[in-house]
Amino acid sequence: MTRPVFRFAPSPNGDLHLGHAFSALTDFRAANAAGGRFLLRMEDIDTTRCRPEFEAGILADLAWLGLRWETPVRRQSEHFADYAAALARLTDIGLVYPAFLSRGAIKARVEAAEADGRAWPRDPDGAPLDPGDDRDLDAAEAERRIAAGAPFAWRLRMAKACAAAGDGLAWQEEGEGPGGETGRVAAEPERWGDVILARRDTPTSYHLAVVVDDALQGVTHVVRGRDLFHATSVHRLLQRLLGLPEPVYRHHRLILDGSGRKLSKSLRDTSLAALRASGATPADICRMVGLEPEAEPNRTGSVSRTERRR
Ligand code: GLU
Repeated sequence: MTRPVFRFAPSPNGDLHLGHAFSALTDFRAANAAGGRFLLRMEDIDTTRCRPEFEAGILADLAWLGLRWETPVRRQSEHFADYAAALARLTDIGLVYPAFLSRGAIKARVEAAEADGRAWPRDPDGAPLDPGDDRDLDAAEAERRIAAGAPFAWRLRMAKACAAAGDGLAWQEEGEGPGGETGRVAAEPERWGDVILARRDTPTSYHLAVVVDDALQGVTHVVRGRDLFHATSVHRLLQRLLGLPEPVYRHHRLILDGSGRKLSKSLRDTSLAALRASGATPADICRMVGLEPEAEPNRTGSVSRTERRR
């Protein structure tokens, strides 16, 4: 029987914090419980924000927490050609177009509409949808702008992509979404509008890279935070369009700060490096995120005295 494959996929653009520790431990324990393989992937497509020292810090923190993973670790920045090939496939079937409207221009449009009392449609993360101005731009005009060096994003023609994907797009949720969704969940990619798949200067987006890599690495189980629950709709759509297999998803709760917000990489006090420097042990980290510390078997295989005392 082939073993299930799990992966943890951090972005090396800052220090890991308690939220990452919870995610990594939940993932690693799920892999072990299933007798599965555990992979680590560096999601470093944003080469301006990701740095080798953050990657080194992540490896050190995860090893300290007791995680073990297969090597070599896949680094997305070394595989841009794989994502370009996937983008080319979608382009060939007429599902991609270059969009030239800048973020600033979209923002101005949204503000003007809202000042006028008109609600602007937003994606599940709350970001305004692209107005789709360039969806029907003449191909020769688009080429002229690209040749002239105009910045642009490659966007998915969402309505056409949904039609091409057909009915019944869904995923198997073993965890729980923000609204308690579990079991077979219907995907709603149209809520994201014409999502960006790449930019002139960034050869892939998170959505495209994540589905290509999960397939290339044979990932069968995606364990990650609930903040990515709605993104799964886009991932399922891209998997169907590219003919990629469907993994099982397990979205887990998020670790929040005192005011109920998701932890961010800029919050120094919850960084694993800082906690470790102040004397915290891996067992302390487990308790801080509401996980049982794993019993350290002593040489005779029985539970140690410290473990028994807890
Ligand atoms: N790289 C993403 C993050 O750090 C996780 C992607 C995923 O697990 O699908 O939030």
